[in-house]
Amino acid sequence: MVKQRVESVANGKIRCDACPVMCYISDGRSGACDRYANVGGELIRVDPLTIIENTISEGGNVVPFLAQPGESEWDGDIVHATRSFVTAVGAGTTYPDYKPAPFIVSQQENGVDMVTVVTEGIFSYCGAKVKIDTDRFLGSETATVRVDGEAIGHVTTGEYGSQMLSLGGVHHLTGGSQKEGRITCDALLRLCNGESVDMQVDGGVNLTIKAGAAPVINDVEESRMRVGCGSATIGMFAKQWMGHVDEVVVVDDHITGVLSEHQAGRLLDVPATGIRIKGRRSTPGRYFQVAEPGIGWGGTNISDPLTILGDFDPKTAWPGMRMLMVSTTGEQYGYYILDDNLRPELQIILPAALQESVEIIAENCEPALTSVLFIGGAGGSLRAGVTTNPVRLTRSVKEALTHVSCGGVPAYVWPGGGITVMADVTQMPSNAFGYVPTPALVAPIEFTMRLDDYRALGGHMEAVMPIEQALELAERKVTPIGRGPWPTESRNFRWGA
Ligand code: SF4
Repeated sequence: MVKQRVESVANGKIRCDACPVMCYISDGRSGACDRYANVGGELIRVDPLTIIENTISEGGNVVPFLAQPGESEWDGDIVHATRSFVTAVGAGTTYPDYKPAPFIVSQQENGVDMVTVVTEGIFSYCGAKVKIDTDRFLGSETATVRVDGEAIGHVTTGEYGSQMLSLGGVHHLTGGSQKEGRITCDALLRLCNGESVDMQVDGGVNLTIKAGAAPVINDVEESRMRVGCGSATIGMFAKQWMGHVDEVVVVDDHITGVLSEHQAGRLLDVPATGIRIKGRRSTPGRYFQVAEPGIGWGGTNISDPLTILGDFDPKTAWPGMRMLMVSTTGEQYGYYILDDNLRPELQIILPAALQESVEIIAENCEPALTSVLFIGGAGGSLRAGVTTNPVRLTRSVKEALTHVSCGGVPAYVWPGGGITVMADVTQMPSNAFGYVPTPALVAPIEFTMRLDDYRALGGHMEAVMPIEQALELAERKVTPIGRGPWPTESRNFRWGA
């Protein structure tokens, strides 16, 4: 476990100064966040310092046996087959950050002296962007998302085949009541640590979401992400319907597609069928707003697809015309034949060729998942733990001289001012996140650069230690989960790209 220097003792209690709460902790007890404890008078970071280790035996990148200049063959030294990266998970936080970050480790990468500055950042400005693979209506854009009745975020603009939530943020963490802040922080913590969280959307659904798992919407687990919009589905599968059916309607909340009117149908010489759709026609064979959003067919509120049809045009339609109606996931479908009055009659039996086409739509759907990206901004004090001149770190990141990772996972750094990062929580070591009661989320963040660049930006050179020293303290070794670049690899940097 990582020990933190004790700056102050009073009445037999040691004071933790790793966050503004400044807990006094008795022997054998932990502080308010459960991250630090007093063990025999020493201030201990409870969770183990975590390193990522990439080895041949564990399926990591293979190191060529004849790789090192000057070496004729592999000498059997395991060092050549293993490389380690010290993450900030369990590293501890230094507060206030005029002091150097807890670990500033140096190591060589292909002959280049590198340094990684490691700290568990306290993020007041942070949250989670959540992508939920479903067409179903979760709630209106900007609808409030609640946990235990407290607002923790909102529904934001949907993406292709997915609904999006924006959770957390400084206003929910600190701008509302204490309870709102506490529940928001707790929900973010659980979500980022891979636990499931129940939430409710005002005017919408009940949700249970967990990073990397299928979302549960109103107690029903979502299984498929739509293959495409209704128009795209028509385009993709039009040929397979030829000769087996006269008309196909792909029902979708976004664009409902109609084969006979669609460009794909026209190019395949599908004759007009006299079908009339109640939605707003966008372009031929593509209709918007055929129904209200909902949790029915194709993310609409309908359970009977015939409700989106008007009367068939008697000048064009004919008795016996065959029509398939299907949703964009293939979950719902119906096969109809027009009767003598040109009214569609639902058929019990779906012809085998159409059954196959419905199954192909379903097969082409990807599994519905919940993706959670942590988003946070590295504030001035966090940056001061890296350098005595914080703005130089920002510039170094923007100039691609410094690579930012969260728990070893490459972070996307937003353009513009500051260092606002996003990272996929499912790729991080488990239990990577913590909290402090201010409230704020504690997240791992590492800054990696060449040692020379670190010196140039005013780094805390006196605190640099060889990686071996940090490895001695590491009690937890994990293998990389994702296939992202190794943090010290030259291709992460402008000079090595
Ligand atoms: S809340 Fe945690 S980090 Fe903050 S002072 Fe207390 S023990 Fe230390």
